[in-house]
Amino acid sequence: MQMLDIILILISLPALVLACALWAAVGYGSARRLGYRPVGAAMVMIAGGASGVVATIVRHPPNSTGLQFLVDFFWLTWLSAVVVTAIILLVLPRRQLRTFGNRRPGFPFARIGQLLVVAGLLLSTVVIAWSVRGSMDSGQAVAGLALAAGFLLPTGRYLQRLGRRADAEATSDQYGVERLEHPVLYLRAFRQEGQFFTIRAASEYGTLPRSWHAAVSKPDQNVGRTFEEYFADALKGSIGPFVALGSPEDYMAPEGAARLYAKDTDWMEHVNVLARNAAAIVVEVGASANLRWEFEYIRQEGLHQKLFVITRPSTEGKWLSWAFWKLVWRIQGSPNVSFREVAASLAPLGYDLAGVDGGPGSVIAFDTDGKALLLTTRAVWPEEFVSPMRDWINERRLTGRCVPASCSRCGRRVYAFPEDTQKARECRDCRYGRPIVRVWKRIASRAYVLIWIVGIVVICGIAVIWPPASGSFFERHIGGVLMVPIVAWSAILMLVLGRMEDPPPLGEPDAVAIGSADDGTTRVAAEPEPKRARALTGGRK
Ligand SMILES: [Zn+2]
Repeated sequence: MQMLDIILILISLPALVLACALWAAVGYGSARRLGYRPVGAAMVMIAGGASGVVATIVRHPPNSTGLQFLVDFFWLTWLSAVVVTAIILLVLPRRQLRTFGNRRPGFPFARIGQLLVVAGLLLSTVVIAWSVRGSMDSGQAVAGLALAAGFLLPTGRYLQRLGRRADAEATSDQYGVERLEHPVLYLRAFRQEGQFFTIRAASEYGTLPRSWHAAVSKPDQNVGRTFEEYFADALKGSIGPFVALGSPEDYMAPEGAARLYAKDTDWMEHVNVLARNAAAIVVEVGASANLRWEFEYIRQEGLHQKLFVITRPSTEGKWLSWAFWKLVWRIQGSPNVSFREVAASLAPLGYDLAGVDGGPGSVIAFDTDGKALLLTTRAVWPEEFVSPMRDWINERRLTGRCVPASCSRCGRRVYAFPEDTQKARECRDCRYGRPIVRVWKRIASRAYVLIWIVGIVVICGIAVIWPPASGSFFERHIGGVLMVPIVAWSAILMLVLGRMEDPPPLGEPDAVAIGSADDGTTRVAAEPEPKRARALTGGRK
């Protein structure tokens, strides 16, 4: 195989994964936006994917190796699937799915869920019985149990929960949300409510994850949470019931805020009632393009002191996932909006956001004149966002990470809790190195392993390309001779991996007071004397 071929294959594999993911995400989203329900949209994708496979069978490419194989069997299959999916989407008529009043999904979620749970239990029993009898090898047994415990059971339980929720919603009085006391009203453009607010490893959320993806994910897999999923519990616990107007296109109400499905003719009246009752009105930056009417109305009616603008937490460590999803959302027609763009579009409506740092994890409130006020910033967990909001609503007190300070080493602007202002603090760059250094620390171990694999391939490749003379010592002991560099190379890998530092933690705020565990929940006052001295000199910069 040519070297060029190998390089092209190495590039081609991740590109193929990305291309398939894009096809699935964009195709499904487009079908949904044409007015097709999840099942219908999934059928479109299955039809597109199946036609790609059929096209490959019909083409019947000759057996090949290397890059040609990838192109024949994967890239052309992908291309056929994309073309067919695009044609289906162009031909399909747009459907009108706007309905009002309670959602009554016809899909038997609970029944299908029960079936999957029973199937999972049956499969586990059969696998255990067969492997005890010895008619199944351990590999098959592990695969069977993984399918049952990792997919069938969690999916079944998830569908059962959906079923219970759907039943509860179908019979509830949805206008009841207007009679709730001190609710928190969630405003957003409907098409953007499915966008993620945060992406983290499934295990980091603790009890938070509720989506199907989270249920079947491994602990270290990335899972996205929407704004609602992220804040529902924290807002309910600290401020009041979480409510929103529902999108008329919802098949079933998404998890999070309690919804009122208003008619196209009277939704403004319902916004009016909800906004006047509300203790707080929350809006997410980055997904708040088409909210002009709501912002204008809130300012005119003098309700802007209830408004809280919230930005996403830091995306550090998940840049690839974010880049992928932002690309998907852009293709689907709802690009990300930066804080500066939002500030510029709100200025003519009477909101003065100039002079406020809308960095990641910020909550911004407004005073009587519509001037913005930073409540907290660099928040990571729901409570870190919500408790400064609660203290502001109840006591007009600033308790978040909102006091401007500077890093005691580089002088960069950072933010501190009011009680921590006298403490020295270090920014993330000073603690763990610049962003590019932090990225390297996170991927270094994988990069070293890759380099090690390349080295092994090179060592074996040399033996193949320049075979030792037949009958020579090297030829007779080729295995032993190759063992020496392979063992040495592996020892070097172990040595390097053993000396590596831990990657920078992700759930930690930007600036940390030196000598304290500043994670938003435990703020220890202990601070050694020499560091304070350094802080005083550093602070004057
Ligand atoms: Zn610094």
